[in-house]
Amino acid sequence: MISYKDRTFCPFHEGCALGKHCDRALTDLVISEAIKWWGDVDAPISMFTEPPPCFETFQTLVETINGSDDDG
Ligand SMILES: [Zn+2]
Repeated sequence: MISYKDRTFCPFHEGCALGKHCDRALTDLVISEAIKWWGDVDAPISMFTEPPPCFETFQTLVETINGSDDDG
């Protein structure tokens, strides 16, 4: 099955702490490029149905930075 760039894109990037820098992010730009490539608005874009392994919530990022592992 054909899909844009043979890549699975991430529709969760807006909620991902790393989303701005992720090359899987399904941005408006990716969508418009895909439509241009396909020549129609129903461009076949493969996307994750749940957050991929690279998904990082802002909460876990903050916890990683703070190094906290309990409520103490
Ligand atoms: Zn990502």
